[in-house]
Amino acid sequence: MAFGLIQWAEAQLAEIRDSGLYKKERVIDSPQGVEITLADGRRVLNFCANNYLGLASHPRVVAAAHHALERWGYGMASVRFICGTQTPHKALERAIADFLHCEDAILYAACFDANGGVFEPFFGPEDAIFSDELNHASLIDGIRLTKARRLVYRHCDVEDLEHKIIETGSVRFRAIVTDGVFSMDGDYAPLPELMRLAEQYDALLIVDDSHATGFVGPTGRGTPERFGILGAQRLLITGTLGKALGGAMGGFVAGAAPLIELLRQRSRPYLFSNSLSPVVAATAAEIFSWLADTTELRDRLEQNTRQFREGLSRAGFQIKPGDHPIVPIMLYDAVLTQEMAEALLEEGIYVVGFSYPVVPRGQARIRVQLSAAHTAEHIAQALAAFEKVGARLGVLAKF
Ligand SMILES: *Cc1c(COP(=O)(O)O)cnc(C)c1O
Repeated sequence: MAFGLIQWAEAQLAEIRDSGLYKKERVIDSPQGVEITLADGRRVLNFCANNYLGLASHPRVVAAAHHALERWGYGMASVRFICGTQTPHKALERAIADFLHCEDAILYAACFDANGGVFEPFFGPEDAIFSDELNHASLIDGIRLTKARRLVYRHCDVEDLEHKIIETGSVRFRAIVTDGVFSMDGDYAPLPELMRLAEQYDALLIVDDSHATGFVGPTGRGTPERFGILGAQRLLITGTLGKALGGAMGGFVAGAAPLIELLRQRSRPYLFSNSLSPVVAATAAEIFSWLADTTELRDRLEQNTRQFREGLSRAGFQIKPGDHPIVPIMLYDAVLTQEMAEALLEEGIYVVGFSYPVVPRGQARIRVQLSAAHTAEHIAQALAAFEKVGARLGVLAKF
């Protein structure tokens, strides 16, 4: 059996390579940050990390982590309910809940686990879950783990959603599920309309704010703050500690106290998986208190995003409009996109091209992600490289 499986795996790999879908991993030989060293010794500027607030190797974060390591040790070697809960885990849950104006919050090893564990305790065959067609893979998997009716509505299409809610008829519970920000386009879910439908049809609204918590909204509380629905009782927020919030790892769900309490009793990735390292828990709690004190980092990120988006538009690139630090630069052609990403790396700018099946056919693009750690100088350097390479490849619009 094993022999056959190995042959099959080799054939699958060949097929992946032949179709140009093989994912190679570039090795970084320095801490994660804006200026990184690649394994071949090249120094480049990183424009493709989820390091939105520049905290992944920020001196203040590293110092907090050192302190936490000395004070609390390295690992927990236990699930939460046996002997895996320390003061920092409770402090972090409190900090997340307070930051997001929720009654309570619960930690997971990753947002993938949070999304994998947030549906099954609540929803069964008598319920219906409505999910945006572009939702993150972990939401799709989490919904699959339930026996609820699953209805996928067209991307951000409130009319299609309402139609599907009506069509489904009477059920016990309903949930509307969406990413707060969609990672390929940097576009926002229409939260006010989704909340209106949630109220009208008595549904829970679940928002995965992985690409928003810490920096979207006037004080960085994410898409619910941006759209004025923060603190709503029927809102459940899931998120990651692995992007803006230090970038180590960890996920959470925040919402009404009874829902969070039930997750502690029934959510399988919480019950049957190791506790977060106390180093991560204590450091993340410190990060939340920092973000609650000052909007300095999200303000700088906003400024950087504006500088980069305006510069690219001026140069004649076609970008998806918006204001999120995810900036999709549309090239449409998959081969051209790869060529452009490689040419930019030669110029010392590390970006990644995305093509089918990650994005729809004919929608190939370079996706840039800005960071608060980029300086105006870094961004000017990137813009100059984009302009030079763009002109050479003939992708700039002519005025
Ligand atoms: C990155 C991401 C996740 C996964 O988060 P991890 O903590 O890395 O598991 C989940 N949902 C969305 C929308 C994401 O962008």
